[in-house]
Amino acid sequence: MSETIPIPGPISGLNCNVLVLNRLYMAIRVVSARRAFNLLLKNLAEVVSVENNTYLSYDIAGWMEISQLKAQFEREQHDFVRTVRLELAVPRIIRLLGYDRLPKQDVKLNRRNIYARDNGMCQYCCKKFPSQELSLDHVIPRAHGGKTTWDNLVCACVYCNAKKGGRTPQQARMHLMKQPVKPKRNPVINMRLGSDKYASWKHFLDHAYWSVELK
Ligand SMILES: [Zn+2]
Repeated sequence: MSETIPIPGPISGLNCNVLVLNRLYMAIRVVSARRAFNLLLKNLAEVVSVENNTYLSYDIAGWMEISQLKAQFEREQHDFVRTVRLELAVPRIIRLLGYDRLPKQDVKLNRRNIYARDNGMCQYCCKKFPSQELSLDHVIPRAHGGKTTWDNLVCACVYCNAKKGGRTPQQARMHLMKQPVKPKRNPVINMRLGSDKYASWKHFLDHAYWSVELK
């Protein structure tokens, strides 16, 4: 099947994100399109496509076929990757066929997730910056007993971080745009939910969907 491995190109959809469900249709993580195709090609996963509120599933062969139709008739609704022979639509959602484990409830405390929680905005000057111009700020500095926790870490631009120095916001007369808290779900998922492209994810992320009693 080597000829079906997507080739990265300038218009490649390989940078898209794909929501991964476990076998029980519970959202467990987000992966790159490249990783998703890898799982599909090994038959470890299937594509879940939400069409007119119905869930359709496709194995990689079926998805290759349907991709041809999508390339022809629904071009603007999808991202594509090119292979030697054909174009493949990037699935928005895949489901792992042999994975029953439940989603990890805990969101990891790391730089990427803090940047995503704060939407890439400096929490002092409220401006958006590319990630290389952002830094992590301990709201209460460590020297003052501040902890490395969700509610004491925020995104700050290099300028604000330097201005604040080793002081508390009060001492530096700087204000936080909002009180930092631990997010309930992976903030990277929250960011993607703002885009129409990932609208189908909502079906699997809405808490109500899971709590409704099935009859
Ligand atoms: Zn700033």
